[in-house]
Amino acid sequence: MLVQYIINDAQNTTFGVSFAKLFIFLNSLTNIGINLIKKNIYILAIESSCDDTGAAVICDGVVISNKMACQTVHSEYGGVIPELASRQHLLHIIPVIDSALKAANIDKGELSAIAFTRGPGLLGSLIVGVSMAKSLALALDLPMIEVHHMHAHILAHFADEPKPEFPFLCLTVSGGHTQIVRVDDYTEMTVLGTTLDDAAGEAFDKAGKMLGLEYPAGPIIDKLAREGKPIFDFPEPQVGELNFSFSGLKTSILYFLQKEMAANPNFIKDNLADLCASIQSSIVKILMKKLTRASTITGIKNIGIAGGVSANSGLRSALESEGKAKKWKTFIPAFEYCTDNAGMIGIAAYYKYLNQDFTDQHVTPAPRLAF
Ligand code: ADP
Ligand code: MG
Repeated sequence: MLVQYIINDAQNTTFGVSFAKLFIFLNSLTNIGINLIKKNIYILAIESSCDDTGAAVICDGVVISNKMACQTVHSEYGGVIPELASRQHLLHIIPVIDSALKAANIDKGELSAIAFTRGPGLLGSLIVGVSMAKSLALALDLPMIEVHHMHAHILAHFADEPKPEFPFLCLTVSGGHTQIVRVDDYTEMTVLGTTLDDAAGEAFDKAGKMLGLEYPAGPIIDKLAREGKPIFDFPEPQVGELNFSFSGLKTSILYFLQKEMAANPNFIKDNLADLCASIQSSIVKILMKKLTRASTITGIKNIGIAGGVSANSGLRSALESEGKAKKWKTFIPAFEYCTDNAGMIGIAAYYKYLNQDFTDQHVTPAPRLAF
């Protein structure tokens, strides 16, 4: 604030323009100095973009505690109910933050910054995390760091060894997103392809709903698929470039099930494992085809996957076998960093902290935050 005031003031005079430039230069040197000298940068990170409330403490880019409160209220509705999600966040957020601080064995007074997911996500859910971050930052007189949820999914790769080298390609697949991203640096990322309709996680969840499975169906399909064989064929969508589409697959699964159930009302029950294996195999094939094409086009052979669907065993083994065949270096985050978590928010925030990239109390949640 003081820095901005001095710069604004100085810019009102001709001499002031050069003075302001010199001041910015000196100030950046000081910031670099602070970063070189200051160790033990503790960041408290908050995640509340969808239906999981998370808090984590990160020290110098290393996650030292990572706590989540998952919401079970949605399972009987077959999807996340936004109003219920925000009410649950309100109940969980303080205990989760307390638990993260306790597990990290640090006091609020030792924190260097508060980080939070600004978007994308559900507005009501984001409001809870953003408001909590603002209150803490105000009360503790700390800087705030806003984080893009999808950047954080990608930077989850830096939670553990081996860490990918830049540039790398990341297939980010979650309940709300499906993207292929070229990652040139911690803060420099370009979307090469995206879904034109449903996300990969949504395809798992909606197909699971048709099979009568609980929400979220992705992990259940994954488990059942291990006992089945991919004997049913579903047509592959014809989408240009590096983009994806899953709505056609969803419709073809629906028509296929309706036809088979008309002939045998027990068809789903009798073939559940094979249906799960077939659905999983179709989704994985669609994802791997585009990822392989992206590697060929860009010539990049460092390849990672991130987001909730990267927990899928079929996708993980397809990445490994394709990686061996194509001589890729492949990267898969540990399971706890695949689905939504605050640890990844803290990692993304740490690299913004190093650039002194802070936000202020005017920040608002951004449900459709641009990449
Ligand atoms: P979002 O950030 O969009 O809420 P997450 O990153 O938390 O999503 O991921 C949740 C999604 O991941 C859900 O759609 C869920 O079904 C899917 N998912 C989680 N584990 C698996 C798995 N093992 N196989 C397939 N999908 C999975
Ligand atoms: Mg997510």
